[in-house]
Amino acid sequence: MSTTAFDVIVIGEGIAGLTAAHTLAKLGLSTATFEQQLFGGLVININELDPAPPGGEAGGAAFAAEMTQANADAGVSSIQEPVTAIAAADGGFSVTTDGGSYRARQVIVASGAHLKSLGVPGEAEFEGRGVSKCADCDGPMFQNETVAVVGGGDSALQEAQVLTHYCGKVWLIHRGSAFSAQQRFIDRIQGNDKIETRFGTTVEAVLGGQMVEKLRIKSSAGSEEIPCAGIFAYIGLEPNAKFLPANVKRDAKGFITTNDALETSVSGLWAVGAVRSGCGGSLEDAMADAKRAAEAVAARLK
Ligand SMILES: Cc1cc2nc3c(=O)[nH]c(=O)nc-3n(C[C@H](O)[C@H](O)[C@H](O)COP(=O)(O)OP(=O)(O)OC[C@H]3O[C@@H](n4cnc5c(N)ncnc54)[C@H](O)[C@@H]3O)c2cc1C
Repeated sequence: MSTTAFDVIVIGEGIAGLTAAHTLAKLGLSTATFEQQLFGGLVININELDPAPPGGEAGGAAFAAEMTQANADAGVSSIQEPVTAIAAADGGFSVTTDGGSYRARQVIVASGAHLKSLGVPGEAEFEGRGVSKCADCDGPMFQNETVAVVGGGDSALQEAQVLTHYCGKVWLIHRGSAFSAQQRFIDRIQGNDKIETRFGTTVEAVLGGQMVEKLRIKSSAGSEEIPCAGIFAYIGLEPNAKFLPANVKRDAKGFITTNDALETSVSGLWAVGAVRSGCGGSLEDAMADAKRAAEAVAARLK
């Protein structure tokens, strides 16, 4: 087993992790990033970022690719292994992955979050056969068809709008009586006659044969089945934090809590971006977190 050591290990190559690692490397610290999937995190498949941070105008994939290249140029080691455990060791940390064990003096957790599932019958069964979480990737498969987006926040409205580029009709199904999205996203979908909104409505089941064919939805008027070839749920995020030890404090929803300096309840273990309780929802918020924590870590290691 490998026991390579770094000054700092950053967990996650989303925009927050890439930003933290870049800042650390530029400050002269030996730095490694670990990634369980593909670099870029939640925005890897978002073609039109809104808001787009400076440099992000060409979309999430291009933005993340540029940052990854800049990190390689700055000497960051990018390790494509999922972190499965972290433990205190020799005044620092031992970070375990599927591929080995690594040491670091400090660790920044930038493991982000994933989209919540609806948890209704048929959702898991039809995954990849009409159930999707990526409008930009899977939208083109639904040319002129009817699909549904579930949710009432920024992501749901943004992605419903994206789907109208391909689909004939988009049901926007929201359990509340009003959207929680920013007004500019509401204005856009209200001006789009391909989108039909159902407030006060939940999805009870995803139905079909080989592929999704219908949804059973429920409102105060009762249950009904609506024809639908695809369903995209944007009903909020859950943190990617299961690999962290139990003594790292979390909020009621499982997001990691930190002090004002972004250090967790474990000294030397920091949390930034979407995994952190209270981080604003945008890329710029995640990047600001990352830069601030990286500078604090560098000051600690001086
Ligand atoms: C549909 C959608 C659209 C959005 N659009 C915009 C937009 O247009 N503009 C904007 O400003 N914001 C947007 N956001 C918000 C934005 O995605 C987040 O602010 C940002 O992605 C947070 O970055 P992050 O690096 O903290 O987390 P993430 O993007 O979640 O990245 C975390 C990374 O850590 C990795 N990871 C997790 N666990 C492990 C592990 N155990 N080991 C190794 N790696 C691990 C993950 O695979 C992932 O790559 C959008 C969000 C969603 C859901």
